[in-house]
Amino acid sequence: MDTNRKLFLFTTTLLLLFSIAIMINAGINFRQYAYKNAIEKSKMTAEIVRDGLTAHMINGIMDKRAFFLRSIANTKDVKNLWIIRAKSVIDQFGEGLSNEHPRDEIDRKVLKTGEAVRKIFETTDVAILRVTIPYKASAYSEPNCLECHNVKEGETLGAISLEFDISDVRKEGIFTLLKIAAITLVFILIAMLAVKILFRPYLEFFNNLQESLKRARNGDFSLKVTTNIQTKDIRLVADLYNQLIEKFQNTIGTIEQKLAILLKNSQTNCSDPLEKSSNTIDMLSKIHHFKNTIELDKSLPQIYNRIAHIIRQIMETENFIIYNVESKDNTREIAYSNLDKPVCEVSTFKNASKCRAFRTMNIVLSDQFPELCPYFCGDFKYYHCIPYQVTESFSLVITLLTNDKKQADHFKRQTPTLNYYLENAKPVIESKLLMEQLRQKSLHDGLTGLYNRKFLEEFIDQVTHQAERQETKYGVLMLDIDFFKKVNDTYGHDVGDKFIKLLADTVKSIVRDSDIVARYGGEEFVVLLHESTPEGAIKVAEKIRTVFAEKSIYINGEHVKKSISIGVAFFPSEAETIREAIKHADVALYKAKERGRNRVIVFEQSMFKENSY
Ligand code: GH3
Ligand code: MG
Ligand code: MG
Repeated sequence: MDTNRKLFLFTTTLLLLFSIAIMINAGINFRQYAYKNAIEKSKMTAEIVRDGLTAHMINGIMDKRAFFLRSIANTKDVKNLWIIRAKSVIDQFGEGLSNEHPRDEIDRKVLKTGEAVRKIFETTDVAILRVTIPYKASAYSEPNCLECHNVKEGETLGAISLEFDISDVRKEGIFTLLKIAAITLVFILIAMLAVKILFRPYLEFFNNLQESLKRARNGDFSLKVTTNIQTKDIRLVADLYNQLIEKFQNTIGTIEQKLAILLKNSQTNCSDPLEKSSNTIDMLSKIHHFKNTIELDKSLPQIYNRIAHIIRQIMETENFIIYNVESKDNTREIAYSNLDKPVCEVSTFKNASKCRAFRTMNIVLSDQFPELCPYFCGDFKYYHCIPYQVTESFSLVITLLTNDKKQADHFKRQTPTLNYYLENAKPVIESKLLMEQLRQKSLHDGLTGLYNRKFLEEFIDQVTHQAERQETKYGVLMLDIDFFKKVNDTYGHDVGDKFIKLLADTVKSIVRDSDIVARYGGEEFVVLLHESTPEGAIKVAEKIRTVFAEKSIYINGEHVKKSISIGVAFFPSEAETIREAIKHADVALYKAKERGRNRVIVFEQSMFKENSY
């Protein structure tokens, strides 16, 4: 219900209640007045009758009393009048006139009790007041009743019954009430008119303001308030309000535009620009914080951890995998995962283009076409793969997994938010990637792709303490091509390089992935065999030697073969540090050369003395 109606109803109800109260009050007062009046009249009449009868009695004209009583009964408003004799009077003076007997219960009761009775009889047409008053004998009255009556003091001699017609008074009362009602109605009509005329502009202004505020709450600041009221205060309120919403409209518009530039497609579907801006600013601040944090991260794995944290927050799941994809060699690997089983076929790691998300650079949603990706082999019902290109040759694919349709929908809804994070993280990931690549380059040998001596030094520093603590064993091999100078001298440097490459590939193909192979110098290599026994290390060394000796390079119509010498040492059984074990392997290699080359020699402490190291 609008305020206009409320005010109208309120005023009308109030006036109505007020007039009803007045009418009830007036009605009651009127009735009481009429009643009192009639009673007074009845008392007076009773006294007149008593005195009249006494006079008749004294004058000995009691037989003429009927005339007297009739004339009294004919006075105005007295509808009926009769007197009644009590038993004592009947016994002493006889029955009296025929109409002097009790006519009803009231008469009898009054004679019996000596108490007056008053009663009103009302119908819709008439209102009658009946009063019956007893006459009591008294020796102290003038004349003394007991002189003539054989009764005791205070005994009832008789009674007088009177009926007054109070219909006229009632009618008058009703008429007065109707007048009050009519006056009230006129006042209600005037009040309604006043509300309409005087309050309408205020109510309109209020309604206008209400509508504008409603719209403003939903972000629409375009509705200004208008009013015809000339009151200074109201005009000021209207002007100030209009200025305020105009300011809001302009400011919000600018903020929205600026934010829209920052976040291309705001993903919030709320229509309130204030709330929208607040959400966007909140997200921007989170993204900014995220960006700042990853900028200080040292390595890509740390950044992946950070992205994983964001995914957990936004997608509300632990079931996801971050893949990184190298376009150049078409490979991909798991950069981050909490799952114990892979969800993509192994072949997709060696052949990244099998990954639909990476190949199409489009989000892959299994809920649209359940078997969209033929290489998905996880236990989850829904997968949601988001590709994200960081550089021309490097991309990320984030795979989100769930069995719950609602969560799958949540993934979809939250993807734009995740994209914002990744979009903003892009330059940082890119630079970290570049740094990582540079670092990898600086730690790898360009010719063979193996680790270089720098890496080996860093690795030794890193793992020695760890290896000491965990008692990890390493078998250390030092390899050197025999008479390599001759190759260079005879066939040239390029052929020399080919032999170096051949040896690198041979070693790589024989050792395990967990072993470290590094190019130590020109045609010298160091192999750290992880968790290897001495026998195992010697076996591997022999295998490398024999396999390489069998390999050849075809030069100018001939197959040229080369042999290698290998020194073997152990950590921690023989050496305190890995660096020392490498030194031991070098000493053993020297021995192998000394003893005729193309052989594997295990380090012994005595070798130091022999060569006075
Ligand atoms: P030994 O059997 O005693 O080892 O005799 P060697 O001739 O192999 O002697 P040494 O190991 O001292 O020879 C190292 C040679 O390797 C010297 C250098 O010309 C050559 N060399 C070092 N680095 C490279 C390289 O990158 N490419 C080529 N082609 N040759 C290299
Ligand atoms: Mg050498
Ligand atoms: Mg050599």
